Amino acid sequence: MDCIFCKINRNEISSEVLFEDVGVKVFKDVHPSAPVHFLVVPKKHIESISLLTEADRDIPGALVFAAKKAAHMLGLEGYKLIFNVGRRGGQIIDHLHLHLLGGWSNVALDKELR
Ligand code: 5GP
Ligand code: ZN
Repeated sequence: MDCIFCKINRNEISSEVLFEDVGVKVFKDVHPSAPVHFLVVPKKHIESISLLTEADRDIPGALVFAAKKAAHMLGLEGYKLIFNVGRRGGQIIDHLHLHLLGGWSNVALDKELR
């Protein structure tokens, strides 16, 4: 299939992989929007949350679980998890993916937490 993320899943396009299992691959976003920016991508080609079927309803949960594991591996204390849905929702790649964003420093908060 002519899909960038399917090609990354099959290692036909290289990526910086944090980890993968039978269902999910976690790799660095090539144009990061945060100091730490990874994509959590299912091995199965599903276009978007808006086209998710009943049969695949567990997949977003698997992505969130993989993102939680990735955040722990990366030592992130706080982070954002984002699904962009459809062009008007900022989705460019039509293969379901969860953005893991983090790594910002917050001087005021860091002082408060100290
Ligand atoms: P979207 O806007 O569809 O939610 O996010 C797609 C993301 O995929 C963007 O943040 C973009 O930087 C990233 N991206 C696009 N092409 C590639 C690629 O070939 N490799 C990697 N690692 N990331 C990509
Ligand atoms: Zn795909």
